[in-house]
Amino acid sequence: NIPVLTIDGPSGSGKGTVSRLVAQKLGWHYLDSGALYRAVGVAAGWGDIDLADPSALVRCTFDTAIEFIEDPETRELRVVVNGVDATDELRTETAGAAASAIAAIPEVRAALKDRQRAFRRPPGLVADGRDMGTVIFPDASFKVFLTASADERAERRYKQLKDKGVSVTFDGLLREILARDARDANRAVAPLRPADDAVHIDTTGQGIDEVVQRVLAIVPA
Ligand code: C5P
Repeated sequence: NIPVLTIDGPSGSGKGTVSRLVAQKLGWHYLDSGALYRAVGVAAGWGDIDLADPSALVRCTFDTAIEFIEDPETRELRVVVNGVDATDELRTETAGAAASAIAAIPEVRAALKDRQRAFRRPPGLVADGRDMGTVIFPDASFKVFLTASADERAERRYKQLKDKGVSVTFDGLLREILARDARDANRAVAPLRPADDAVHIDTTGQGIDEVVQRVLAIVPA
């Protein structure tokens, strides 16, 4: 039975960075499930597919090739969508909003299930998302639910995007993040909620290293 550590939580909770570092420390594979939803959202945009047309979106989900490639020098993860490096486009809040819209469609979620489960390979997997511990890997050995105050989450995203040279305002970002969280938490299918057996970690005011140590502490060496 290949071990899985699931790390779920709202946007900006630090999931992405923490999950990557924990996976590196453990020497396990890493699944950024949000990137799959973002990739389908972006591919739908490229194909002029209406975000209100579920059957076209399901077709688009099956047709979209998504590859994760680690830059050997920086160890940064690049996401290649239909052969195009879309890493920077995927990070924008526009892509996040498109992802959140298509993620509310049950058939799109179902179409991505097997693709996500295929990441479970020896020696283990760290899976980052919204429903990793509840729907995709309910039998995971270790489950974490990361949270942080909305202000702090918006502040982190703001810094991330500003560092990338994207022009955003803090207030606009906070509004968008709150709207996306509300949609993720209130949708009928796989709403964002902690698994019953998840360890809750509030990362407000904590540095990345501290959070990484707290997560590693629940996985026996
Ligand atoms: O984690 P990230 O911000 O990249 O996710 C983008 C969007 O994709 C989320 O707001 C959510 O709607 C959706 N998502 C999801 N289930 C996951 C991962 C992401 O519904 N496991």
